[in-house]
Amino acid sequence: MIKNLNEIEVPAKTKRNFLPEFFLMKTWQDIAPYFNKIENTTIDSKEKLVEVLTQLSELEAFLEEDLAWKYIKMNIDTTNEELSKSFNYFIGEIQPKIEPVINTIRKKLVENPFFEQLTDDAYQILFRSVKQGIKLFREENIALQAELHQKEQEYGATVASLTIHYQDKEHTLAQAAVFLKSTNRDERETVYRLIQQKRLSVKDKLDELLNQLIKLRNTIAINAGFTSYTDYKFAEMGRFDYTVKDCFNFHKSIETLLVPIINEIDLERKSQLKYTSLRPWDLDVDIEGRAPLKPFESGTDLLEKTTQMFYAIDTYFGDCLLKMQKMGHLDLESKKGKAPGGFNYPLYESGAPFIYMNSVGTVRDFVTLIHEGGHAIHSFLSHPLALTGFKNLTPEIAEVASMSMELISLDFWHLAIEKETDLKRAKKEHLEQVLETLPWVATVDAFQHWLYANPNHHAKERADSWLELYNRFNSSIVDWEGLTSYKSNIWQKQLHIYEVPFYYIEYGFAQLAAIAVWKNYKENPTQTLQQFKYALSLGYTKSIPEIYRAAGIGFNFSEDYIQSLTDFVKKELNAI
Ligand SMILES: [Zn+2]
Repeated sequence: MIKNLNEIEVPAKTKRNFLPEFFLMKTWQDIAPYFNKIENTTIDSKEKLVEVLTQLSELEAFLEEDLAWKYIKMNIDTTNEELSKSFNYFIGEIQPKIEPVINTIRKKLVENPFFEQLTDDAYQILFRSVKQGIKLFREENIALQAELHQKEQEYGATVASLTIHYQDKEHTLAQAAVFLKSTNRDERETVYRLIQQKRLSVKDKLDELLNQLIKLRNTIAINAGFTSYTDYKFAEMGRFDYTVKDCFNFHKSIETLLVPIINEIDLERKSQLKYTSLRPWDLDVDIEGRAPLKPFESGTDLLEKTTQMFYAIDTYFGDCLLKMQKMGHLDLESKKGKAPGGFNYPLYESGAPFIYMNSVGTVRDFVTLIHEGGHAIHSFLSHPLALTGFKNLTPEIAEVASMSMELISLDFWHLAIEKETDLKRAKKEHLEQVLETLPWVATVDAFQHWLYANPNHHAKERADSWLELYNRFNSSIVDWEGLTSYKSNIWQKQLHIYEVPFYYIEYGFAQLAAIAVWKNYKENPTQTLQQFKYALSLGYTKSIPEIYRAAGIGFNFSEDYIQSLTDFVKKELNAI
């Protein structure tokens, strides 16, 4: 049953105790005195320490929400210069002043003798990365880190400028990718080759950039007392709950279990398309030659049906979307002047997050709303936690909420997609994508491990290593004849390798976790939803394995465990 908008209670804005109720920040000078006050407080008891932690949390909530609104408004209307000015002022003038002050305060807090008396796990989890930061800090790395950040930007700048010329028009690579879904095979091949040629035109430049990045990263690690960047980066990213060996186990299991499944999917594709060989430009087209589905008329239509579906799963889930609607915290439709992308942005003072999207009514948009809706439910459930830092989620946890919702909702998709053939097609495409994510994550992750285990490699060795890994984890059905130069260069499209090294396997872990939640849900929906909601309400106040356990699932990369999950997905896929 759908509740009336008027019946929904909007969460009360968190009451401020430290900042004035009507505080407005124009410059850093407005807020600096509050930080000074915290810095100058003498902490001579456990109670005083908790009080200071709470004050700091209030400042963080205020600043995060202030930045959030600036970011959201700027994205909604990119034509309004005032909005981008205001956002850029925050990033350029205020942000750089916040981080050092907060870091100094946090260091002071963990080093306080009363800190050890905060025995609640939540504090230990929150501060384990602060302690780690203190351990990793080296004076001589400050300048190197700055140089590294600057160099990392070069990747985006290089790639963003790439366009292809096709049918008398310039297309960015993202725009050009739309042609890869074309039912005209010649068109797909032409555009595919144009894109790859364009990428090859910057190959040497991007190869050299990665050489420089690896060298810098390696030096930073050695300065900090590590023998490899891999170990340094695991420590710096706060990967306390798993090791390099766990990642390797993940790779091994994915190789054994997923490659045969991916081959099966591609074999079916090849036979349905009636091709003698399946080429890389044949992977995005619908196998029955149909145009992409567009089941929603407008953003309102998409929202109405998705909300109805959330209610059918769980009243609380429906309430979350309705509350956001009531508060004006949804901007779903693609509009002129609106920046691309989709996200759920938590608002730590308001309590209700904001969902931003660019819907045009496709199934992809529907899945995005369900995904972001999962993040939103997480924001609501973790909002009551005492400190802002407890709600600062790590992706291994955050993505479980969103990816689980994608799968749990599958049994309710008929409420949004009415036509039986469309429904089946949408579900099948989604489940295939879920499976395809895993080998790609393994490829990218294994490649990054190779890069830093062999920091003195040459570009040629790197390309060879990529090919070997690509062949290990991916379909052997696709025919790459005559396309080796493209194939050995695919990794250059993966931004993470350049800009956020090692950040990727998190998606693989979360995808497996989401499948596990879904499997439990099919067996016992009521209990699974209870566990799921409880796990999300923990925010990041327990370790990752503990939160997974609370959700009723394992943090486990053994072949047996993963096989129980992939067998389940295969069974569901066959039943469609
Ligand atoms: Zn997400």
